[in-house]
Amino acid sequence: MGILSGLEPAKVFHYFEAICGIPHGSYHTKQISDYCVRFAQEHGLHYIQDEANNVILFHPGTTGYEQSAPVILQGHLDMVCEKEPGCPMDFGKDGLHLRLEDGYVSADGTTLGGDDGIAVACALAILDSDDIPHPPLEVILTTDEEVGMLGAAALDCSPLQSRIMLNLDSEDEGILLVSCAGGLQADCHIPVTRENADGLSVTVTLSGLTGGHSGVEIHKGRANANQLLGRFLNELGEAVRFRLCSVEGGLKDNAIPRKAAAALVIPPDEQAALTDAVSHWQAVFAGEYGVTDPALALTAEIGQAATVSALDERSQRNVIAALVNVPAGVQRMSPDIPGLVQTSLNPGILTTSEAEVTLVFSVRSSVRSEKEALYNRLENLFTLLGGSVTRHGDYPAWEYRRDSRLRELMVQVFEQQYGHRPEVQAVHAGLECGLFAGKLPGLDCISFGPDMDDIHTTKERLNVGSVRRTWNYLLEVLKQLK
Ligand SMILES: [Zn+2]
Repeated sequence: MGILSGLEPAKVFHYFEAICGIPHGSYHTKQISDYCVRFAQEHGLHYIQDEANNVILFHPGTTGYEQSAPVILQGHLDMVCEKEPGCPMDFGKDGLHLRLEDGYVSADGTTLGGDDGIAVACALAILDSDDIPHPPLEVILTTDEEVGMLGAAALDCSPLQSRIMLNLDSEDEGILLVSCAGGLQADCHIPVTRENADGLSVTVTLSGLTGGHSGVEIHKGRANANQLLGRFLNELGEAVRFRLCSVEGGLKDNAIPRKAAAALVIPPDEQAALTDAVSHWQAVFAGEYGVTDPALALTAEIGQAATVSALDERSQRNVIAALVNVPAGVQRMSPDIPGLVQTSLNPGILTTSEAEVTLVFSVRSSVRSEKEALYNRLENLFTLLGGSVTRHGDYPAWEYRRDSRLRELMVQVFEQQYGHRPEVQAVHAGLECGLFAGKLPGLDCISFGPDMDDIHTTKERLNVGSVRRTWNYLLEVLKQLK
C-alpha cells in the first residue's frame, strides 16, 4: 500500500506515487522516460522516444470521438532537486519519501516534483482509463524544462497533428495562462582605444539597489545600476574633467543590476568638485528612488596619483552616450491583458576589457515583432557608436490569441464547475508553451494546473483537493472538445 492510496482520483495518485519512486531530476531523465515507454508498450499505445528522453504517447479518440480534432496534453518529466541540509536522500538513485498531511502531499526533506509530476500522472491516468471520453490524444512529456526547456527545444514536432494544447505546468488553480514572453540575449559591443592619462585614481560605486528578476519585477520601477551609473558619468562631465578607465556592473542578463562601478582619473585640483558632485547626485537619486531602492548609495573612493590606461576622448564619449541612451525597463504594457508587461529589456551586465566595453541585455516580449524592433533599435544605436550587436538564446513568444476557441470553452467549463470566472493571465517570462507555439503554427493553448506551494523548494506541497477539482475540470474540457 502506498502512502497516497485511498486518495482520489485514485489513478492520478497511483501514478504520481510511482513517478516519485523513480529518480527524475533534470539531466537524469532516462529512467522516467523509459518508465513511460514501458507504460505505452503495456497499454499497446503508439509512442516516440527521442535522444533527449522526450516521450510522445498517442491514444486514439474514444467512442464517438474518433473523428474529433486531436488534443495535446503536455507536461515535463524532470523535477528540481533540492534537499534540506543533512537530508541523506540521493537524488541519483533514491525515490522520494512522501508525506500526506492536512490535505497536502509533500516529500520528507526534499522537493516533491509536483511540478511537474502531477501532469505526467494525470496524462498516464487518462491513457490508462477506458471510461474517460476524449478526442485523439498526443501526450508530450518533455525533459529538462527546469534547466532551460532543453527537451522541448530539441523535440521534433513533425509527428504531431494537433493544434490544441493543454499544458499542465501551472500551479494556481483558477488561473488560465494564455501567453508568455519570448526573449533573447543581445550582446552590445563598443570598441575602445586607450591612451595613458595622469591624475588621481577614483572609483565611483553605485550600490545597494533592490534589483530583481528582469521578467517578474521589471515593471516595479527599480533603478538599474548600469543605466544610472551612465547617467551619473554624463552629469559628472559638467563638473569634473575626468578620464574614464572602465565601467563594470551586474552579474546576469536577466537580473536587474544592483551594483555598478566606474574607474576614473581626475585632475588633483578637482577632488572637491568630484566629492560635491557625488553627494549632489546621491541626494538626487535618493529622491527619485527612495521608495523602490531605499538603500541606494553613490560613493567615491579617492586613491593615489597615477598614470593609467584610460579610454581616449572619443571612446569615452561613445561609452557614456551608450549608457545614457540605451532603452531599459518596460517598453510597452499589453493592450489585451491588464497589468501584463508586453515588452521590456534589461541591460544586465556591463564589462570593460582592454579593447571594448560590452553591455549584455535580456530582451523580452510576448509579441515577436516588438522583440525584433527592440533588438534592431539596439543594433542601430551601437552601430552608430562604431560597435556591433550579437544575439543568442533566442526563444519564441507564446502570443495572446484574440480569438481562441479553447479559451472560450475552458472559461465556460470553469464557470459551470466553480460558479465563478477563472482569471485569465499571462507571464512576462518564458514557458514551454512558447517553444510549442513557435513549432506548431496556429496552436491554441492554455496552461493550468492544481495548487502547489513553494515549488522548487523543500517546502513544496501539492493540494489534494485542488488536484481532484483540476482533474474533474480537465476531464470535462476533454469531453467537450468533441
Ligand atoms: Zn514546471
